[in-house]
Amino acid sequence: MDNYVVRAVSGDRFIRIFFAITTAMVEEARHIHDTTPVATAALGRTITACSIMGLMMKGDDDKVSVQIKGDGPIKQILVVSDAHGNVKGYVSNPYVDIPLREDGKLNVGGAVGKIGKITVIKDFGLKEPYIGQSELITGEIAEDITAYFANSEQQPSAVSLGVLVDRDRTVKASGGFIVQVLPGVEENIISKLENTLNNLSPLTEIIEKESNGEIIVRELFKDFDVEILDKQEIRLVCDCAVERLEKALISVGKKDLKEIIEEDEKAELTCHFCNTKYHFDKEHLEKLYSEAQ
Ligand SMILES: [Zn+2]
Repeated sequence: MDNYVVRAVSGDRFIRIFFAITTAMVEEARHIHDTTPVATAALGRTITACSIMGLMMKGDDDKVSVQIKGDGPIKQILVVSDAHGNVKGYVSNPYVDIPLREDGKLNVGGAVGKIGKITVIKDFGLKEPYIGQSELITGEIAEDITAYFANSEQQPSAVSLGVLVDRDRTVKASGGFIVQVLPGVEENIISKLENTLNNLSPLTEIIEKESNGEIIVRELFKDFDVEILDKQEIRLVCDCAVERLEKALISVGKKDLKEIIEEDEKAELTCHFCNTKYHFDKEHLEKLYSEAQ
């Protein structure tokens, strides 16, 4: 298993832990989108968090999307996951290049921006999806997702996400965790947890040294008598298909479709999530034209 989420609970069952190792899939995303290191970090952090949030969903067909829109040069990050942690995502500007922070780290907050919103859409297959929104805090992603959980879901959570990019721009280590405390937890447990989390080494350092997620969970939360529940594989996959893009073309309407047929005699559409290009020749477009309203 290259990419996975370890689910665990504390012995008293008041703390639930989701710990993800995503090095391979974030490298795959970097390769697909040809992202700069800071864009790789921003996308990778969001991919990690979103696939965990996907696994938190209860229904088999549920979906969750995380959209981060700040005033920084990356513009928008969009990641979608299903309930099995099958995730896809992109950033609007994969070529964003800004100087490192003073501490030598990638400036994700600067790329994303501090003014803006994080929007989480949960699709339970009902008529209306659930939409939760929260203001960005730092644009560093983890803090923003923590704020989303607190403000929109009233769920106290600790979120940590990290992507370490190597000198050759490939992903050296990537992962993250979401830790949540359940209602009724005693105050002293919360302070013990805060203490543990405040004293952690940077996550990328931890994952670079130890790539086994279960070992990391046992080590990080050793004071909480943790029980590992399971380890679930997650993947970077796109579910785009020619039928979906046909629908998109049909939806532009007869008039515009006619224009495309007459002027260009072909169309090329690219899936934002996986960069697959779909070519439509004149004959194909004419068939869609006949189906359009
Ligand atoms: Zn695609």
